[in-house]
Amino acid sequence: MRHQNPIFIPGPTNTPDVLKAAMSVSNFDHRAADFADDYMPLLNDLKKIFKTDTGQVLLFSATGTGGWEGAISNTLCAGDKVLIACYGMFSQRWIDLCQRFGLDVEVVDCEWGTGAPVEEFARRLKADQQGEIKAVLVTHNETATAVKSDVHGVRKAIDDANHSALLMVDAVSSLASMDFQMDAWGVDVAITGAQKGFMLNTGLAIVGVSPKAMAATQTATLPRCFFDFNDMANANKIGSYPYTPPLQLFSGLKASVELLLNEGMDNVNARHHRIAQGIRAAVKAWGLELCAKNPELYSDTVTAIMVPEGKDANLVTQHAYEAYGVSFGGGLGKMAGKLFRIGHLGAMTDVMALSGIAAAEMTMVDLGYDIDLGSGVAAAQRVYQRGL
Ligand SMILES: *Cc1c(COP(=O)(O)O)cnc(C)c1O
Repeated sequence: MRHQNPIFIPGPTNTPDVLKAAMSVSNFDHRAADFADDYMPLLNDLKKIFKTDTGQVLLFSATGTGGWEGAISNTLCAGDKVLIACYGMFSQRWIDLCQRFGLDVEVVDCEWGTGAPVEEFARRLKADQQGEIKAVLVTHNETATAVKSDVHGVRKAIDDANHSALLMVDAVSSLASMDFQMDAWGVDVAITGAQKGFMLNTGLAIVGVSPKAMAATQTATLPRCFFDFNDMANANKIGSYPYTPPLQLFSGLKASVELLLNEGMDNVNARHHRIAQGIRAAVKAWGLELCAKNPELYSDTVTAIMVPEGKDANLVTQHAYEAYGVSFGGGLGKMAGKLFRIGHLGAMTDVMALSGIAAAEMTMVDLGYDIDLGSGVAAAQRVYQRGL
């Protein structure tokens, strides 16, 4: 029965029964005239989740990583300069992808546990009088360290410098669970995947594209085929898809969007915030530190917990899995062994979170941590309790 336990990893996330059912449909004819009847409203409703009126949302059979690739290859030319900071495994991997595409990647190295360095970006953008920087790339929620960045602040830095760079955002572990405002924050490309906030099976890159990013495709010369934004956008205009769509994921996405919009995005965000507050209260009660350096950086979708000196965080994830059948995220890259992560995005409730906190607590007590059973659970209960 251990597979009945929720998973506490920041993707893939738990899938609600209604979404499993929605994905459990037979293949249907994507060239039939009525394919567009569901597809076009779906694309339109997705815009409400990205909070864009002017942009459009494109769906590719891929994962978030494919979304990164599409963002770069559709808007840039080999040798173009992009500005990006490295503050965790995911920002680091996006940098690697840019380098493999032959871009001139200007990397700002930051301490892991911090976010996008808005002031440093502002300085470099102001200094770039020739407009050599073609795009600024931001990982909104660095899943490896559980740190969120100030995307709106980066937009202001670009505007204050009177700079024309595109703003591209990895919103893979924030969209549909933390506040994200594509238009208000002036985001040109926003990327996520089906298996995180949308609570679905893996297999979709979901990409928001602004008119400015769409215009950039006209001059961008990096090779692209599968991820060509124009092929996709042109097909979408007439309610069609350029190749075989992942039909079951589309059915699931329709149901997921309905679920999210019925709850209301403000309520979805508030739920994630409350759950995260409870988990952070538990961490405090355990006397442990977060990887995130200050409260403005705290992620509401994942919590990264530093283990005390001399402890190996990998044993926490291992023992929790073996003894209790519960999955937590491990430390990635240079955080391996130093932290473990509780993922709490998507289909998550206060009560589910309490079970994760309890499992983490038993695990750490088993491993000889100086923690009292129940201390973290009680701290979270005080956050979640609603009274009469
Ligand atoms: C999960 C994740 C990715 C990678 O997405 P895939 O869907 O696994 O390709 C990228 N960025 C962030 C911030 C993520 O959390």
